[in-house]
Amino acid sequence: MPKDSPPEELPVPHMAGGEFRELAARAAAWVDDYLSGVEAHPVQHARTPGQTEAMLPVAPPEMPEGLDRIFEELDRVVAPALTNWQHPMFFGYFPCNTSHPAILAELVIAGLGQQGMLWSTSPACTEVETRMLDWMGRAIGLPAAFLSDSACGGGCIQGTASESALVALVAARDRALRANPETDPRSLGVYTSTQAHSSIAKAAMVAGIARHAHDEKGVRLVPVDERCQMDPGALGAMLDADLAAGITPVMLSLTLGTTASTAVDPIDACTRIWREKVGDPWVHVDAAHSGATLVCPEYRWQAKGIELTDSFCFNPHKWLLTTFDCDLFWTRDREGLVRSLSITPEYLRNEATDSGAVTDYRDWQIPLGRRFRALKLWFVMRHYGLEGLRNHIRNHCAQAEWLESKIDAHPTLRAAAERTSNLVCFDHASGEAATRAMLAALNDRRDVFLTHAVLPAAEGGSRFVIRVAIGALTTEPRHIEALWRLIERAAESVG
Ligand code: PLP
Repeated sequence: MPKDSPPEELPVPHMAGGEFRELAARAAAWVDDYLSGVEAHPVQHARTPGQTEAMLPVAPPEMPEGLDRIFEELDRVVAPALTNWQHPMFFGYFPCNTSHPAILAELVIAGLGQQGMLWSTSPACTEVETRMLDWMGRAIGLPAAFLSDSACGGGCIQGTASESALVALVAARDRALRANPETDPRSLGVYTSTQAHSSIAKAAMVAGIARHAHDEKGVRLVPVDERCQMDPGALGAMLDADLAAGITPVMLSLTLGTTASTAVDPIDACTRIWREKVGDPWVHVDAAHSGATLVCPEYRWQAKGIELTDSFCFNPHKWLLTTFDCDLFWTRDREGLVRSLSITPEYLRNEATDSGAVTDYRDWQIPLGRRFRALKLWFVMRHYGLEGLRNHIRNHCAQAEWLESKIDAHPTLRAAAERTSNLVCFDHASGEAATRAMLAALNDRRDVFLTHAVLPAAEGGSRFVIRVAIGALTTEPRHIEALWRLIERAAESVG
């Protein structure tokens, strides 16, 4: 029997407006204190595995507690367990920028609570994103064919460069199998250089093209030259041999800014050879880190030949002041991409989609749902302007150039790779043991953080190098001076 009155509401302690404003101001102040005071803390935590988890109760709170306790725990439990990526002396991996306008955008994004899987579920989420991708595409000098107002191009935000590699590969596989339906899917091979990021091999694993991380048939690793760039001649020779052996090239992934040393594959020469030998199969460019430099015209030489490729991505969440997660992915073949990823269950059908007049970004990515991440780009680009973004990049590159000049002039240190932008790689002339000892001496201090890479050595074999990636929000010339003094001291200490 239906009841006469609707059910009584149970108490749920939603936050009232006044309380929210007060706590939002407190959270903003906490973040501001963190960022403005980050330099006073070590870059690296001193926690041991399990220590942080053990500081939190095993059981969740049964009754509402309010957020007061959270702020106390942020200071006591969380802050000491952080690696401080925004610290001015953080030079590890690649940067992972935050910035004040991006933080504000994150608040607005969360507040709006949009789910932009379809145009109809949030026209703003979709159309602001389309426009932001065009803005950034123009800002980095992408050819018009990648922009949304071209006949076949367009872009969207992916979570990471790894996801971009995967969607490019899914589109590439679809293109290859449509062109030759008789192709044995087990014959497919993805081409990339020995210096490419592991995400390319991982995409091949996820797509079922590689059976494991070292599957040499599914992932064809093209040798690099002495500058760690893909060797176009080696690519051509490998394609000749592979075609004769029955391998089907499905995608070429080129790197603009390798993880180890920011080497730049010759996009133009490699893509021309690819087109000459295999024709239409997909060419992707992974510019995860170094793509940010393209806001400055003087770095655009790296993208020569980009107009010949099919897709391109870079991460503003690395070095362009936009909080994680924000990878930008553009393609010249949006129809091919959408065809390979589109599936429409009945419950998602709607008039706008059926009309064909709108973009549904769910068809451009692996997940269905999506956040309103374009707001981050909007806030960042409006706040900094392209001029501000260029200065951010140029400041770090100038700092890297200065550091490199110091290393070049030092009697026992050797620059170990060509510097293309903000990354300086070097080693100790006495060899690997001394370089490792230097790195350990520097990192043991915890007030600076650096990571390493292993590069191919000119004389054969490999070369262990220290990497200095300059790009944190807070890094200024005085920090690079301080770093140099620490490097000098570490070099002396190992002899
Ligand atoms: N590609 C390159 C060249 C990278 O350097 C990195 C990470 O540093 C990646 C891809 C992976 O990035 P993401 O974490 O966005 O997947």
